[in-house]
Amino acid sequence: MTEAIVVGGGLAGIAAAVAVAQAGLQTLHVAPKGAPDRRTSALMLPSVAYLEAAGLIGDPADLGTALTQIRIIDATGRLIRSPETLFDSSEAGLPAFGWNFANVRLLAEFEAAKAKLGNIETVDSTVVDIERVADGWRLSLGNGDTCTAPFLVGSDGKKSFIRSAAGFRSRESGFTQAALVADLELARPLVGASVEFHYPQGPFTLVPAGGTRANLVWIDDREALRALQAEGSDALRAAVLSKSQHLFGDIRLLTPAHMFLLSTLSVPEAGHDGVVLAGEAAHAFPPIGAQGLNLGLRDVADLAAALKETNRSEADWARKASERYSQRRAADLVRTGGVVDTLFRSLLSDLLPAQAARAGGLWALKLLPPLRKQAFGLGMGSR
Ligand SMILES: Cc1cc2nc3c(=O)[nH]c(=O)nc-3n(C[C@H](O)[C@H](O)[C@H](O)COP(=O)(O)OP(=O)(O)OC[C@H]3O[C@@H](n4cnc5c(N)ncnc54)[C@H](O)[C@@H]3O)c2cc1C
Repeated sequence: MTEAIVVGGGLAGIAAAVAVAQAGLQTLHVAPKGAPDRRTSALMLPSVAYLEAAGLIGDPADLGTALTQIRIIDATGRLIRSPETLFDSSEAGLPAFGWNFANVRLLAEFEAAKAKLGNIETVDSTVVDIERVADGWRLSLGNGDTCTAPFLVGSDGKKSFIRSAAGFRSRESGFTQAALVADLELARPLVGASVEFHYPQGPFTLVPAGGTRANLVWIDDREALRALQAEGSDALRAAVLSKSQHLFGDIRLLTPAHMFLLSTLSVPEAGHDGVVLAGEAAHAFPPIGAQGLNLGLRDVADLAAALKETNRSEADWARKASERYSQRRAADLVRTGGVVDTLFRSLLSDLLPAQAARAGGLWALKLLPPLRKQAFGLGMGSR
């Protein structure tokens, strides 16, 4: 008998399906095959440690690039500007802050880990309807099948069908900005340093991807990015050179650019009545400070812990597990979502008090080692 259904074939969905199966539940994973995920993920050391411990990846050095420095350059040209700030992982006594991985490589590793488990079945379809029934949740799939289980995990992304159909409240607000991503080759390598240029319309970030390669995450006005993309690769390359202030010499685009629309999304509770939300189904925000998937993996870690604490011989175990999960996630979701949202809005703000607060904050971080240590902990998701 199926004990849990996990919906969603993104990184959070596969990691959740593996965690649920590893907790011993007979699991059905509803994961429609989609286009390759062209994004990359900077994952902090605690997330990487979780992935290794869960058997989702092997040695991170075989898969990604170590992130040893974060350099922030204020390119706003505003009246009150921040100092250039360099964070080095050695200050925190760490070999690196984390690792940068291509999502397609992570997905392949996660799939390989899933294939080793005997108590999980995967179906390539979408959920089109759900219904509360006496023995749990009955799902209707796009391929005409139905399936029922007492425990349901919605990891079906920002537009989550499970979230709305299972009665979760949520709050979403969109931005006029989008994020443009592409793989680049730089004449001068980044050597482990992630470099963020803070422009008035959003940050322009180069993340090291091994050797002379870098991943671009450029947040800017959506229409301006669209117009630039339409002009073709030469115009895009010229804009990337200019935005990088020619610090890395010549730049070549290795892949076409892809655009992602940005919004923030939060839920007041991440679990009830035998259903839990994980990954972007529960939280989304702009990709600054590399927090999205890191938070999603903390969802998965708490899902594993909540299931471990649950006695499945009790009649109402699925409801209890979902409530336990919701309690475990509450503080982290509020804290991380709040910090990223405030940071993003302060980056875009034309208001002098916001500019002063951000510049003051960066000066304080630059000059006060104990504060830097606290910021390292917060950025890395320490609990
Ligand atoms: C430009 C950019 C850069 C980023 N960089 C970082 C970073 O450096 N570090 C970091 O931690 N985070 C980063 N993030 C965030 C991170 O990419 C996301 O948090 C993460 O990929 C979300 O994974 P997910 O599995 O929750 O959602 P998704 O990847 O959106 O997957 C959702 C899945 O659900 C499936 N689905 C949808 N509807 C249904 C349905 N009805 N039935 C069945 N399945 C369904 C979809 O097909 C898909 O497989 C970045 C995000 C962006 C946009």
